[in-house]
Amino acid sequence: MILLGSTGSIGCNALEVAREFQISIETLVAGKNIPLLNQQIEEFNPSFVVIAQKDDYNELKPNGAKVFFGQEGILEALHSSKSSLVLNALVGFLGLEPTLCSLALGKTIALANKESLVSAGWLIDTSKLIPVDSEHFSLWHLLQNRPFQSLCITASGGAFRDTPLSSIPSQNAQEALKHPNWKMGKKITIDSASMANKLFEILEAYWLFQTSNIDALIERKSIIHALVEYQDGSISAHLAKPDMKLAISYALNPHLASKASLIPSLKFEEFASLKLETIDSKRYPLWDLKPHLLCNPKLGIVLNASNEIAIEGFLQGKYAFGKMIDLIFKSIQAFDSLPTLDNIQEIRTLDQQVRDFTSSLISSLCP
Ligand code: NDP
Repeated sequence: MILLGSTGSIGCNALEVAREFQISIETLVAGKNIPLLNQQIEEFNPSFVVIAQKDDYNELKPNGAKVFFGQEGILEALHSSKSSLVLNALVGFLGLEPTLCSLALGKTIALANKESLVSAGWLIDTSKLIPVDSEHFSLWHLLQNRPFQSLCITASGGAFRDTPLSSIPSQNAQEALKHPNWKMGKKITIDSASMANKLFEILEAYWLFQTSNIDALIERKSIIHALVEYQDGSISAHLAKPDMKLAISYALNPHLASKASLIPSLKFEEFASLKLETIDSKRYPLWDLKPHLLCNPKLGIVLNASNEIAIEGFLQGKYAFGKMIDLIFKSIQAFDSLPTLDNIQEIRTLDQQVRDFTSSLISSLCP
């Protein structure tokens, strides 16, 4: 298989599954973590490797693999690789073109990179996608082509779920990175604290399952991942320990996944304490955007681009959490009427315009 984002949280979990299932790795794509990539190359012996920057080449030990660089290099490696399965675990808008390229090459995509669907769901043939996001994997597990009325995914509530409301706006990145349940990359951890992640997942579900009847509730233990209301009025929930290896193993080999137990099992007693709560937009102001996004799903591209830029400044300590949220709201207001966005060039142009706009707001805050 081809693994995009091998040194990240999903990438490392995927390699654990690949090791267990004895899946050979043809291509590894990483960014800047060359020491970890070197270990992965030594163990999995790929034919192709991609790193973000040529400057890091001296540190790389390719072990005979052909090496490509940068975003263009990811596309070149996809063209060179024969494997039909791609796991896209890149973070952010960077993952979109590799998703489109893989599909154009006739490959199947196991998609963790939710930003691909959020930014361009309407250009993506979702019949070739296997969802890796835990909530969407759970929906897929529950649905199995059965007719449904509505879908519900869950949220943990993130780092600030118990923080007094008045002190949330002044929190810094160090605090926002303290996720109560999951160990994930920095961006998705901040997205969980702001509830942007759940907006992304609502849009992800919109494109994957072609419905606007989708909501989210908080379940603090991240054990219930999704619920489906079927047309007969009954509801099923999918429960599992919070561990991404479950969804990844189904994406990599459903036959082995249904037999292997790569994650610790749940005890029935654990269900007794589970509780579902509504999402309070006083605590998570971005959640108010949900109905507007579901009526205008292409706005996902604006949400994503402004969020990526706003998070960058927040992680650099330029401003506190509340300001980061303001930047996203202001950007969405500024780009409320969208061009047609019929192709990737138009999407790239709008993505850049939003980034420039949000960056200019940041410059005016921190001259
Ligand atoms: P991480 O930040 O942990 O990993 C991101 C990966 O992308 C790393 O391998 C990183 O390389 C690589 N990368 C970053 N920039 C570049 C670049 N310019 N060129 C090549 N590679 C690059 O993220 P996660 O694993 O947490 O998340 C990945 C995706 O999966 C996201 O879209 C996220 O929303 C989604 N997801 C994650 C979940 C989780 O549990 N973590 C759960 C569900 C979805 P390096 O580190 O070497 O710089």
